[in-house]
Amino acid sequence: MPRIRYQRCPACKTDSLVATSNPSIMDCRQCHGLWFEDGALNHAIAHQHDCIDDYDHELHLGPALRSSDRQCRRCQVPMVHYQLLEHYTTEIDCCPECDGVWLDKHEIDQVMHSPKLKQALTDLNKKVTWKSWLFQFLTSMPVEYNVQPHRTPWVTRSLIALCSLIFVAGMFTPATNEWIFVNLGLNSDTQSPAHFVLQLLTYQFVHGGLMHLVGNMYFLWIIGDNLEDALGHGAFLAIYLFAGVMAALAELMLFDTAQGPLLLVGASGSIAALFGLYLLWFRHASLTFMIIVYQKKLAPHWYFLIWSLINLFGMFTAQGGVAWAAHLGGFALGLLLGYLMRDYVLRKNPLIALLNQPEAVLRR
Ligand SMILES: [Zn+2]
Ligand SMILES: [Zn+2]
Repeated sequence: MPRIRYQRCPACKTDSLVATSNPSIMDCRQCHGLWFEDGALNHAIAHQHDCIDDYDHELHLGPALRSSDRQCRRCQVPMVHYQLLEHYTTEIDCCPECDGVWLDKHEIDQVMHSPKLKQALTDLNKKVTWKSWLFQFLTSMPVEYNVQPHRTPWVTRSLIALCSLIFVAGMFTPATNEWIFVNLGLNSDTQSPAHFVLQLLTYQFVHGGLMHLVGNMYFLWIIGDNLEDALGHGAFLAIYLFAGVMAALAELMLFDTAQGPLLLVGASGSIAALFGLYLLWFRHASLTFMIIVYQKKLAPHWYFLIWSLINLFGMFTAQGGVAWAAHLGGFALGLLLGYLMRDYVLRKNPLIALLNQPEAVLRR
């Protein structure tokens, strides 16, 4: 039997360091940190990502911070703390002489994902440009900064297509429009219970006007793709439709039918639920907000706080024509689901989990 040679671990200072199946990577049996000989870390990182042939982590390291109290296992000199990336404050230890790297257990995942983290942080920290300014100035719609989704957002696209098709169909003749509103909209006068239940789903696809449609579809477009990517197609669709049903029930509960029957249309309730999920899972994202001519990137919680205040104001001043309770009911449901599902979503999406760490430095 070959004798295993243990060496001194730079972190826990016990003789627990032993070579792995790869002789240039050593593993500490005590603290489960990893030692990488010069170049071994680059291979390991490149190996993790199919799209990368070779990676040089040293090129992307943030500033050298100070010398560490850890010693290189090979050269017996103090190692140096480096910030992992310019915008990610995790500190790793590198040897100034042999270029060996020591990673504590909790840093391994962050370092292995560092090419993706770097790309994501570059995208997220982009400044607003004259194009984003002009877009928001002309449309009053926010510009979104978030990571690029990997999955094609088929559900989001189909929802947008279906809503748009139904709207276009209604433009042909006043009679078709009337038919769509009476049969597909949610109508508190509907006699058949089965039809009413069906309307709880179909009302989400009917819109009252072009601006109503465009506003809703724009928000669905910018935030739906990231949520669909994080959840998977099926779960995203199920949550979207379920939220629409619950938002309608919230509106019905608070609606005074003495004023006449309730007719409810629009995807706003379902989309408001997406806002809640977005706020809880994508702290790293930004949405721009414009005050007259000054455009500013806001974190989702600030953006949706302002949005909720506008809705609360509308509800209490009882401004007609907008389903304020459906918006706020959908949003509250989204916050609840977002809270309950947060751990599951972060476990399924390591990059999103890493961007949710306080180590990610976001410029707004
Ligand atoms: Zn150790
Ligand atoms: Zn060294």
